[in-house]
Amino acid sequence: MARTVSHDPRFDGLVLFNAELETIADGLRWCEGPVWFADHGCLLFNDIPNNRTLRWSEAGGVSVFRPSSDYANGQCRDLQGRLISCHHRSRSLTRLEIDGSLTTLVSRADGQRLNSPNDVVVKSDGSLWFTDPLYGIATDYEGGRQDSEQPAAVYRLDPASGELERVVSDMAGPNGLAFSPDERRLYLVETGAVGDPAPDRHIRVFDVGADGRSLSGGGVFHRIEPGWADGLRVDEQGNVWSSAGDGVHCLAPDGTLLGRVLVPSLVANLCFGGAFRNRLFICAAPAVYALYVNTRGVQLP
Ligand code: MG
Repeated sequence: MARTVSHDPRFDGLVLFNAELETIADGLRWCEGPVWFADHGCLLFNDIPNNRTLRWSEAGGVSVFRPSSDYANGQCRDLQGRLISCHHRSRSLTRLEIDGSLTTLVSRADGQRLNSPNDVVVKSDGSLWFTDPLYGIATDYEGGRQDSEQPAAVYRLDPASGELERVVSDMAGPNGLAFSPDERRLYLVETGAVGDPAPDRHIRVFDVGADGRSLSGGGVFHRIEPGWADGLRVDEQGNVWSSAGDGVHCLAPDGTLLGRVLVPSLVANLCFGGAFRNRLFICAAPAVYALYVNTRGVQLP
């Protein structure tokens, strides 16, 4: 079975004794942005330094979906099932339309260019929430060094009206994000400022107001050890599955570490997928791993 470490009896019910950690893709550089397409039975993910989007399916294996991805990073699907991607190079969010054309949803805030949108999630009202740290413009490896025009922030975009609201501005390095199953909570990863020799890396939790968009709170939910979190996802019981220095950590809604899935290479991001949303797809530097678990990812809107 996959190498797992249980820290709480609750974890034992979330994993399977007879499921292996499977390598479904390898030979990549730094992969991110996994998103499951149940209607096609496939996973899309990005190999950022190679500037491409890849596709995996059980029957077809790995193929190139987008040979030039504009250094895409985090991804999700909108309420119509269209692919939403964050791009480092063009510092934008795009939507892949059903006719194959690409629509830029946002590339500026207050007239200034965004930094390098990193990760994005959709909420049931159709709004897109995304993080905009400086990571993607800090090196040539993930899209090319560029100057920042504004501080890192977290945004809410209404793609219907184009309304853009800065919802969090006190994070130097906002990264992965996910809503709780009832959308009353927003988990936000903080991985620190570019160049900070000793960043305080943690996952924060915000309360979402009755209006469905205002945030309060924002205290530390959990500090990953070892390493830090990048991307995270939530299962239907509200547990948070986060990337960590040694694999994937499963956290209870109260922040307790329930258990760990050990992964041989550095995990950046993950998502649930498969016919029952019970398969964890894990982007880990040169490889993508898959692991069947005994829970289901929250049904995304
Ligand atoms: Mg990220």
